[in-house]
Amino acid sequence: MIFDLHCHSTASDGVLSPVALVTRAHEQGVDVLALTDHDDLRGQAEAAATAQRLGMRYVPGVEISVTWGGQTVHVVGLNIDPENPQLLAGLAANRNGRAERARQMAEALARLGIAGALEGAYAYAENKELIGRTHFARFLVEEGYVKDVKTVFKKFLVKGKPGYVPHEWASLQAAVGWIRAAGGQAVLAHPGRYNFGREKMRLLLQEFRDLGGVGLEVVTGSHTEDQVPVYAALAQEFSLYASVGSDFHAPGEGGRELGRLAPLPAGCRPLWETW
Ligand code: AMP
Ligand code: MN
Ligand code: MN
Ligand code: MN
Repeated sequence: MIFDLHCHSTASDGVLSPVALVTRAHEQGVDVLALTDHDDLRGQAEAAATAQRLGMRYVPGVEISVTWGGQTVHVVGLNIDPENPQLLAGLAANRNGRAERARQMAEALARLGIAGALEGAYAYAENKELIGRTHFARFLVEEGYVKDVKTVFKKFLVKGKPGYVPHEWASLQAAVGWIRAAGGQAVLAHPGRYNFGREKMRLLLQEFRDLGGVGLEVVTGSHTEDQVPVYAALAQEFSLYASVGSDFHAPGEGGRELGRLAPLPAGCRPLWETW
């Protein structure tokens, strides 16, 4: 069975519509799929209907942006009720800050001599409420400022770089609370991406667990082969179930293809054991 429990559509910063995304996952041999758009559920109904039509199992999902310890972390919610009012309201609040942040990002880029970034980025965002860094990155690549999306992030869009605008997202407690209110399971996304030291990571895992988080992404498109056993061990230590997801965004953008995931290391308890 191939599980892919983390990916994106045009409802956030992916380039495929929910229908096209689910169809592609099916073609790639995925058996169980969750679409986990950032801070938004508008792709869920279409994704679920497409999966049903293709005879594929579908798990409703979301990826919530969180500020914890002065840094951004992502929390995936799986098996959520996509119509839960508390979750919907929380996500709407999280989306609210994106427009002003985008305006500030464009201003910062303009100071570097890059004109028209706001309109340029919005042209890539099908869901205007979800304007984000990936849309700016695609614009900068298209305009020839940088060779690929990955390099845009490195040069412009991460902390310490000139196009980065700090932002306050939901608290960890709020995000986990919304997911639980919607009957879902909270999973800490791509822990290897946070550049926390060992102690800060353990603090995060402890707090996440205390708040009712149940899972940790162990195998993800964001982890190197070496990181997988590190987070497998932490999942066991903190009694978290292990999850897997490609974090697919777009064909040919350098990220992982849907369903192309290594098996979970021995000793991990897969999240789907609880389903
Ligand atoms: P935002 O929610 O606007 O902060 O954008 C976050 C998104 O940017 C992530 O979900 C990824 O899709 C993308 N992203 C973040 N860091 C990188 C990176 N180093 N390389 C490529 N994409 C990245
Ligand atoms: Mn993304
Ligand atoms: Mn993420
Ligand atoms: Mn993601």
